[in-house]
Amino acid sequence: MMTFPMFLTLSGRRVVIAGGGKGAAQKARLMARTEARLVILAPRLEDELAGLVACGRAEHDACPASTESFRDAALVFIVTGDAAEDLRLHALAKAAGTLVNVVDRPELCDAFTPSIVDRDPVVIAIGTEGTAPVLARQIRTALETMLEPRLGAFAALAGRLRGVVSRQVPAAERRAFWAWAFSDTPRRLHAAGREREAAQLLKRAISEGGRGAAEGLISLVGAGPGARDLLTLRAVQRLQEADVIFYDRLVEPEVLDLARRDAERIYVGKEVGLHSWPQNRINGVVLAAARQGRRVVRLKSGDPGIFGRAAEEIAAAKAAGVAVEIIPGITAAAAAAASVGRPLTERGRTDRLVLATGTLEAKGVVPEFAEVLTPGTTLALYMSMHRIAELGNRLLAAGQPSELEVEIVSRATCVDECRKLTTLADIASSEPDESLRSPAIVFIRRPKLSLADGIETGHSEKLVAIS
Ligand code: SAH
Repeated sequence: MMTFPMFLTLSGRRVVIAGGGKGAAQKARLMARTEARLVILAPRLEDELAGLVACGRAEHDACPASTESFRDAALVFIVTGDAAEDLRLHALAKAAGTLVNVVDRPELCDAFTPSIVDRDPVVIAIGTEGTAPVLARQIRTALETMLEPRLGAFAALAGRLRGVVSRQVPAAERRAFWAWAFSDTPRRLHAAGREREAAQLLKRAISEGGRGAAEGLISLVGAGPGARDLLTLRAVQRLQEADVIFYDRLVEPEVLDLARRDAERIYVGKEVGLHSWPQNRINGVVLAAARQGRRVVRLKSGDPGIFGRAAEEIAAAKAAGVAVEIIPGITAAAAAAASVGRPLTERGRTDRLVLATGTLEAKGVVPEFAEVLTPGTTLALYMSMHRIAELGNRLLAAGQPSELEVEIVSRATCVDECRKLTTLADIASSEPDESLRSPAIVFIRRPKLSLADGIETGHSEKLVAIS
């Protein structure tokens, strides 16, 4: 390490910012978040700096700079915009024996400002020793999204309770108590804006001499279509809190990697037709884990509420009196539409979206879609690739136009995604394309504006027929 991270105590101490322009204002804005006494050393101030002085947050020192200007400063920033002046001020500040940062002159810096994630009093500093500032910002963004905005207030609450915890919670229990506080219901309630309930729960647990009753929770979490950056922030949070994760066949390994390293991962996937894990067995193991007070994530591809058998799992949890929640995800149809750059609804063309499955519960029964595929409909078919020709033939037999546009997107958002744009006649007559492996979404679009349908529009503006 060329540099060593330390947190400087700044309360009530002088921080001098030498410079009166935009660069100085940027540093002043950062330092105004601290409890330092800010002094702006410059003959003239731009508006933002003048504002800080006017509201009493900073003092203005307009005297010509001397060693005295920097005396006893905890930290000095030099950012005058004039290289020679920066150098002169640097010499004066060093003569006063202070810690100096000359903006954009690393060779003149005793200290560097890191990228900061501010959840005061929780503060995270990220530095790359000047090698990769953009990477530092990316890391910062990742942390910003992971840590709830109210985390600082929660840490402050914990800080206020430290004394009473050391008096009332036996030493051997304290670590477990804090682990529970920061990873379980108290933090979750607080993050959701229920600060009072969180505080009450903590106080009750303290008065009972330690750990609050660990409450199991089952989170049915949407893993999205495959790509790991298509999970919601809440989904990632649940994955990081989980003690145990039960995941399905279509959940991609890169999504599982978002979980805590020591979380237990259990595969409960079902191959189509091969029910290696019957639903009631899944319900049983999920409930058993939650009853032990563990944080359980039931990770399902896409959105858990769309062809995800969530209803059975919710009913089982409710019947057992175990708390259960749904964290929505990006469903395959939405992801596939985004991949091909076509919205699911198009004003004037399709104003109805039908999500349907080609696989019904009753074995051998083939669903019929001709009735729902009325003009103005986008039909998104899940679990249909194995009988795509049959479904196409039935639609043709029911009088659907053979030139209807069919678009198939296989493994949407995954690295091996494949797409095909074709027609109803083609899928009905040809062998399925080998490159279009399951899982795939089949879109069948029946627009309003087609020669077969004439002009129908639900909107008031006039449409001009295109021939
Ligand atoms: N709950 C999931 C659907 C589960 S059913 C969701 O909301 O997306 C399984 C079907 O989803 C597959 O047969 C396929 O039709 C579709 N599917 C899932 N992941 C997919 C992907 N990455 N690309 C295309 N289709 C996908």
